Amino acid sequence: MEIDSQTKLTGIIGFPLEYTLSPAIFNAVYQQMGMNCCYVSLPVPPADLAGALNGLKVVGFKGVNVTMPHKEAVLSLLDELDESAAKAGAVNTIYFDEGRSFGYNTDGQGFLNAFSDEFSFQPSGRNVLIIGAGGAARAIAVSLALAGTSEMTVVNRTQERARSLAELVKRNVPGCRIAVASLGVDMTDLLKKTDLIINATSVGMGDEADRVPIDIDLINDKHYVFDLIYDPDETLFLKGARERGARTANGLKMLVHQAAIAFKIWTGLDMPVEAVLARLQHKQIGLVDSQ
Ligand code: NAP
Repeated sequence: MEIDSQTKLTGIIGFPLEYTLSPAIFNAVYQQMGMNCCYVSLPVPPADLAGALNGLKVVGFKGVNVTMPHKEAVLSLLDELDESAAKAGAVNTIYFDEGRSFGYNTDGQGFLNAFSDEFSFQPSGRNVLIIGAGGAARAIAVSLALAGTSEMTVVNRTQERARSLAELVKRNVPGCRIAVASLGVDMTDLLKKTDLIINATSVGMGDEADRVPIDIDLINDKHYVFDLIYDPDETLFLKGARERGARTANGLKMLVHQAAIAFKIWTGLDMPVEAVLARLQHKQIGLVDSQ
């Protein structure tokens, strides 16, 4: 990759930003498509978020992805919000154009695209348990409700955040039945009526790699289990679910699908999703340690 005065800059902001596949994915695609663009990893502490966004706008970045913990904090710092971000109450993609910043959310649609790739059916009409209530969980819950999921339960460590997610879903889809429960409660009855379980917490990766978000012994061969984590390939939670007969999927396809939507917003072009996935699965594109 050659960097020159015409190179268009894109990247990812988050904190900490230890391991992310996004730079490897985007840079591989830019190279394959012969585009004079590059994608960099930008660790931004929460206190510096507003200053960093202004700096990116001023120096002419084309766009950035946004990850933990900035997805909600960034909402009030942007000039305009796309419907996808307004509905999800979270932003994971920013596009800069003529000195203005536009917030989008590609997580919800990325999840739906990955879900139908992985399981060959739509999640509408299913009974869903979402574990977590952060930015990704919010986007997924709203997308599921808009796609016709009629019954959902959200469990989260922080109850206030789970309640806020439920209110967000009801504002978007008043007819959706959504309940809130605490992570610590006995989920035996809840899991009996659940079809699809989504782990949208960071439990299972990094320092939390040796933990599972809920009791795996409640999972059986009737369940579909989707873990948003893609590193490790198989979390303890997914491994336990697979060993108990559940059909499982990790977050890799969602990562590529949500990246493809961001790529389209920034460049107007289609990302070769299948080719990127094949290269990731063959480890021809790998993790970059940003530290
Ligand atoms: P976030 O907004 O920071 O939310 C983090 C969530 O994890 C919150 O629900 C939080 O609970 C929970 N959590 C964190 N540590 C916990 C712990 N020790 N015990 C119990 N719950 C804990 O982050 P996010 O953007 O939603 O991302 C959530 C996960 O999804 C991350 O693993 C991220 O890598 C993954 N993700 C994957 C994709 C993909 O494309 N595959 C896209 C987006 C996100 P509290 O509210 O109580 O803090």
